[in-house]
Amino acid sequence: MTDNPAHEEFDVVVIGGGPAGLSAALYCTRLGNQTALINRGGGRAAMMQDVHNVIGITEETAGKELLSTGVEQLREYGCTVYRDVISSCSTETPESESELAPTETRSESDSEDGTNSTTDIDTSNPNTLDNTTAPPQITLSGTETTYTADYVVLATGFTDVRPDPPLPRTGRGLHYCLHCDAYMFIDEPVYVMGTSESAAHVATIMLNFTDTVDLLTRGDPPTWSDDTDTVLKNHPIDIIHEDVSGVQNDADGWLTALEFEDGTIREYTGGFAMYGADYNNGLANELGCELNDDGTVAVDDHGQTSVENVYAVGDLTPGHNQVPIALADGAKAGISIHWQRRPFPRDLDLLDELGPVRAEEVPGLPDELLERAIEFHTYD
Ligand SMILES: Cc1cc2nc3c(=O)[nH]c(=O)nc-3n(C[C@H](O)[C@H](O)[C@H](O)COP(=O)(O)OP(=O)(O)OC[C@H]3O[C@@H](n4cnc5c(N)ncnc54)[C@H](O)[C@@H]3O)c2cc1C
Repeated sequence: MTDNPAHEEFDVVVIGGGPAGLSAALYCTRLGNQTALINRGGGRAAMMQDVHNVIGITEETAGKELLSTGVEQLREYGCTVYRDVISSCSTETPESESELAPTETRSESDSEDGTNSTTDIDTSNPNTLDNTTAPPQITLSGTETTYTADYVVLATGFTDVRPDPPLPRTGRGLHYCLHCDAYMFIDEPVYVMGTSESAAHVATIMLNFTDTVDLLTRGDPPTWSDDTDTVLKNHPIDIIHEDVSGVQNDADGWLTALEFEDGTIREYTGGFAMYGADYNNGLANELGCELNDDGTVAVDDHGQTSVENVYAVGDLTPGHNQVPIALADGAKAGISIHWQRRPFPRDLDLLDELGPVRAEEVPGLPDELLERAIEFHTYD
């Protein structure tokens, strides 16, 4: 950290450059907000050796390629992308009412894309003239830069808890995502590693895909319930308690077998490690966002957290942990922020207060984004 850290201001700052953050930043930028994406690199999407379940993206595509294409797209539309780590954050309410920028209140029946909102949340824009307080400015501390924003989208994901080595290579026999990778193991021998309810659950689910499933406790005592134990005993699953002592791979680095401490060798094409998730929820916690018991951030259908102007999307929030869902979360948050921030149409109260919208006031887009969009048009 330098003595005088640089300071950057944006309408929206998105923290986290996985699919959820990229998508939120894309929508925010293209809908006319000065947007920054701040990413420290890594994350779950970067671990994808090949991307499954994303229509239009073929399986030869690696996660890192998907992410770097996303960053290029963002830059083309005028989003500022930083490689940085946000280590802390805070909210501060501006003192002066004059700092208010008059914008409109979002209507729940607003549905320009043909969808209707299904939630009953208070989405009123704090920037309307009816309010006496300005929206909080959110300050984010990076390594050498501080960023302020009216809106923040948290897209920081989680980290899969890894079991102790020896382990197969991630994506080449060690997997974390059943809905992504079970397809690869249809009719192949698989293991599930872990001692939890979810490990037992995933082992039984894998019987939908293959007839050879081992559950590896690696010498740790199971924590699944008696009922789950009964379920396990009534399914053709071998529970192996010996710890893993070695890994055998083929010439391409794909798992072929695991060696066990008792000298046995069992053949596997791959398997899943089920040791839980460490949610990257520190910033959400610092901002005062409500967390669920499992560590996810509580959000409404649009990704709005319990803290005004703070959104959370993707794996950090409840729901399936999948790229298409992260993309959709980002889209919903971006559209919701647009509803909150867009200046037009001016509603009746504001027309009364400010008068008619003058020709020189439109379009309601920052100059830089306007110029970028005009440059981008291919039909000119
Ligand atoms: C091995 C593996 C394979 C998978 N394969 C598939 C698949 O084929 N298809 C599929 O649909 N899903 C797959 N998934 C799931 C998918 O990767 C996730 O659901 C998806 O990446 C979630 O996106 P996200 O943006 O919420 O989180 P992430 O992709 O985890 O991105 C979070 C980002 O936030 C950044 N970050 C965190 N904290 C900070 C901070 N303080 N400051 C700055 N940046 C920060 C991280 O560095 C990271 O870049 C797979 C997951 C794994 C682990």
